[in-house]
Amino acid sequence: MTAPTRRIGVHTSISGGVHCSVERAHELGCTTMQIFSHNPRQWFAGRLQDTHISRFRELRERYDVNPVFVHTSYLINLAATNPEVLEKSVSLLIQELDLADALGAEYVVLHTGSASQDTGDHARQRAVGALRQIARVRQWKAQLLLENTAGERGDISSRIADIAAMIHAVDSPLIGGVCLDSCHAFAAGYGFSEEAEVDRLADEVKRLIGPDAVRLIHLNDSKKGLGAGVDRHEHLGEGSIGIEALTRLICHPLFADVPLVLETPKKTEDDDPRNLAIARKMIKKR
Ligand SMILES: [Zn+2]
Ligand SMILES: [Zn+2]
Repeated sequence: MTAPTRRIGVHTSISGGVHCSVERAHELGCTTMQIFSHNPRQWFAGRLQDTHISRFRELRERYDVNPVFVHTSYLINLAATNPEVLEKSVSLLIQELDLADALGAEYVVLHTGSASQDTGDHARQRAVGALRQIARVRQWKAQLLLENTAGERGDISSRIADIAAMIHAVDSPLIGGVCLDSCHAFAAGYGFSEEAEVDRLADEVKRLIGPDAVRLIHLNDSKKGLGAGVDRHEHLGEGSIGIEALTRLICHPLFADVPLVLETPKKTEDDDPRNLAIARKMIKKR
């Protein structure tokens, strides 16, 4: 059996120490992975133990888990109208980037933010200001990926055009590109049931940001329907998008080499292996 060249992984737990995530990923046959570097529902990232960090680096080298994506805390909101929340968000994102560099992770995935009590343009300007501020603090090896969101109330990054506008306005190597979440895109109204729809999305990405803009695909099915504006992930093939449409997206020529990370539900031990097996089959159809 030849190893597939496309990188596939899942979001993996760091419980027991950050290095344990690499063991878990490897046991599942993953060649890439995503982690939280700390509890994503707390404002303080804390420190990672040096022995855990060196073990993490050693294991990912040995198992060739690459790239590594760190998903930022859900608390971060760079579009927040409350100045205290905004300040805490900036500070936590800096800690996230520091931790990513300590781990040697290539990318840090960010939901830019939301502000339901403000216009999208104003909210995006705040996020741009915060990202510029962070870019001036220092230079990190790890780069931020802005993730498209599901179009829930106040979301500022559910449209490719809006993400593109922020990337151009920040204009810094701090931002390495985009994380495209299939569930979020579908929830925000991007359909994949026809080739022409995926072509349109790919053209938008290419035209507004660039041909290599998408560095990661979050491969998730969606519990809710097209354009529902609700972020609810589902097992591959058990949601409203379906295997065929998801395959059309991930095998589009513009996205065909982009690493895939699953953020599908984990209710039983069997969920990750099953979803990973489905994902591997999907790319084989190419
Ligand atoms: Zn995602
Ligand atoms: Zn989501």
